[in-house]
Amino acid sequence: MCAVGTGPGDLRDEARIPTTSPAETLARAVAFFREPHGAPLRALGIATFGPVDLDPRSPTWGVITSTPKPGWADTDLAGPFRRALAVPIAVDTDVNGAALAEYRWGAAQGDDPVVFVTVGTGVGGGVLVAGRPVHGVVHPEMGHVRVPRDRQHDPFPGACPYHGDCLEGVASAGAMRQRWGVPPEALPPDHPGWELEAHYLALGLAAVVAVLSPRRIVIGGGVTGQSSLLPRVRARLRDLLGGYPRSTALADMDRYLVAPALGERAGVLGALALAEDALASPRVPRG
Ligand code: ZN
Repeated sequence: MCAVGTGPGDLRDEARIPTTSPAETLARAVAFFREPHGAPLRALGIATFGPVDLDPRSPTWGVITSTPKPGWADTDLAGPFRRALAVPIAVDTDVNGAALAEYRWGAAQGDDPVVFVTVGTGVGGGVLVAGRPVHGVVHPEMGHVRVPRDRQHDPFPGACPYHGDCLEGVASAGAMRQRWGVPPEALPPDHPGWELEAHYLALGLAAVVAVLSPRRIVIGGGVTGQSSLLPRVRARLRDLLGGYPRSTALADMDRYLVAPALGERAGVLGALALAEDALASPRVPRG
């Protein structure tokens, strides 16, 4: 998804470019941004799947690293844009970007810290502290936390190529499809798969609450389109926390664990928010 604009009320010239080979996809995206869009571009934000090198001192800053996505490992994502566009460029994970968009314009305005989780093809999570995306040796990879398993109840070995039965390995859309033989959208609302899905997601979120103590968690992605899922996850998360971390925020689970207010636009608006930050305080290499 490419777009030009200044915020949710001013999103112009959106373009959806299919993800094919890195060379073809990036060339089409660069061409889009070189077209006239009514005003000169002032900054560019890239919100991407990962893992991606986000260390501005690293020679491989802006490079996709160990992704299982075919053909995309070791792809220099930022390079083609830096060579083509003379503007500050920010790169971050798609989930850190979505967290930023929801913090700035959506369901988590002013919440600090805040976590954004997506459950779709993979499971990912972004974190903002004091309104800034958290990076570290890499960046948060919440989808790959380990979750307790009852293999008698769920013998599925897991679908993550790196870890088997990490959270993504048992709760992503791909894992659900492998376990049940049909994609999640084909599972009826009363299928036992949804209770199991809620159980795993709540285990992952309980770890997130214990480690980061976020003031709000925004959860989206294709799998959460099943309307019975979010209430189940809230109930299971409340059970798992066991009343130990006491707060009025956690007691009101309907407002604590919420859907994205920006819907599917959280991703592209996240890139826009990153561009805005790059303009305000360029802490990343300039193009
Ligand atoms: Zn994993």
